[in-house]
Amino acid sequence: MISMPQTISPIFDTVILGAGASGLMCASVAIGRGKSVVLIDHAVRPGRKLSLTGGKKCNITNKKVSMQDYIGENPQFCRSALARFTPEHTLSMLLEAGIAFEERELGQIFCKHSAEDLVSFLVKACVSGGGRIALEEHILAAETIPSCENSNPPAETTRYAHGDLPKNHARFRVRTRNSTYEGRNLVIAMGGPAWPQTGASGRGYELARAFGHRIVPVHPALAGLLMPPNWPLSGLAGISATVSVRVLPSQETTDKTKQAGQLKKQGTVDILVADGLSLLFTHKGLSGPAALQASLYWRKGRRLLLDFLPGKTLTELLDDSACKQLLFRNLLRRFLPERLCDALLPAELAGKKIAELSRRERERLRSLLKNYEIAPIGSENFAKAEVAAGGVSTKEVSSRSMESAKIPGLFFCGEILDVTGRLGGYNLHWAFASGYVAGAHM
Ligand SMILES: Cc1cc2nc3c(=O)[nH]c(=O)nc-3n(C[C@H](O)[C@H](O)[C@H](O)COP(=O)(O)OP(=O)(O)OC[C@H]3O[C@@H](n4cnc5c(N)ncnc54)[C@H](O)[C@@H]3O)c2cc1C
Repeated sequence: MISMPQTISPIFDTVILGAGASGLMCASVAIGRGKSVVLIDHAVRPGRKLSLTGGKKCNITNKKVSMQDYIGENPQFCRSALARFTPEHTLSMLLEAGIAFEERELGQIFCKHSAEDLVSFLVKACVSGGGRIALEEHILAAETIPSCENSNPPAETTRYAHGDLPKNHARFRVRTRNSTYEGRNLVIAMGGPAWPQTGASGRGYELARAFGHRIVPVHPALAGLLMPPNWPLSGLAGISATVSVRVLPSQETTDKTKQAGQLKKQGTVDILVADGLSLLFTHKGLSGPAALQASLYWRKGRRLLLDFLPGKTLTELLDDSACKQLLFRNLLRRFLPERLCDALLPAELAGKKIAELSRRERERLRSLLKNYEIAPIGSENFAKAEVAAGGVSTKEVSSRSMESAKIPGLFFCGEILDVTGRLGGYNLHWAFASGYVAGAHM
């Protein structure tokens, strides 16, 4: 068999794996600082996922971004990057690029015309500054080259055990099927496996692991929730309602803490995860912004509480003297779709006048409408999830620079890190903020 000749590129200041949102941002910042950069990606074009975000209009940021909008093992981690790269920075970037944007509900900022405009701007910023984008490259291995130059690349990805870290390496080497790239810094910006149809993969985690980094278990998030067949509200596919959602602590925790008499202790009370967002009933369960947001916090075995009348108390509805003679069903239909009212209300309560409801019946209505408990059986998989939660542990990465605490010169940015944002522009904001910080530090 004749093997393909390998080309060896010049040594770059920075080799970036992944030409997506965070990789492009990191590259353009590093190039702006005079660094020589190559971006390596297996896709046929850069920024494929970015161009599809926000219904192809890209919800690029949110007017209000804070670390409370993110989850991860180390909730403080994103604070420094978010302070260095704010929503105002994003808006300045859009103005500089001549990309029109608009604010939608809940402070979400979208491109007015197309996400492609943003991809073109970032690509142009890289290429016009002398950066190189190597596409359709299949990454075989990434490794450090020891100070005493080793001209023979090892046959497979080197694994570094704790206590055996190559602190004295001179640079990094990335081998692809066609080429070998060397750089003084290496950035892994390969995202996660959500939406594999865009070229997304979990390969970045493997490379991080090979460098000795711990991966916090990865799972689909911002995804629809699956409900058991024949659950009481099945059969409502296509209907939507505005709801609030709270996540209950796991049953196990509740039982244990009840025994210990500490139900109110922090971490054991339910938390509000979606406030007044649209919930869509589907054939498989629940979707829409409320369900997607809830999926970020939901874990197997946990239950959710749906409030079908967010912002209203049942008492204020039932005690309205103008409504006393109404059938409860008719009152509820002012706020919720008819089919949902019929599915929620037991016949004996639906057909009663409000004035006739007993205290016990009012309590029953409260639990049906304000605390409707559901137990999802899963969430949609990566093919339908917007993000992968979990990833490279932030306990081993500098929050100020995104540099590995284990291997100097190795950086991570974007979704590959264990930082996951809520729905509403927070994940792209994180991709850009972390890419910016990494690019500014190398
Ligand atoms: C449908 C959809 C809509 C979304 N909409 C929004 C939104 O409106 N607002 C928002 O904030 N977030 C949104 N997100 C999430 C957001 O797109 C991501 O969080 C963000 O793109 C992450 O940036 P990243 O640079 O870390 O990864 P990516 O943008 O995914 O870039 C990773 C790059 O690495 C490359 N790569 C992966 N594996 C390999 C490999 N094995 N070899 C070589 N290269 C590889 C990929 O080709 C890609 O170019 C959406 C996600 C999806 C799926």
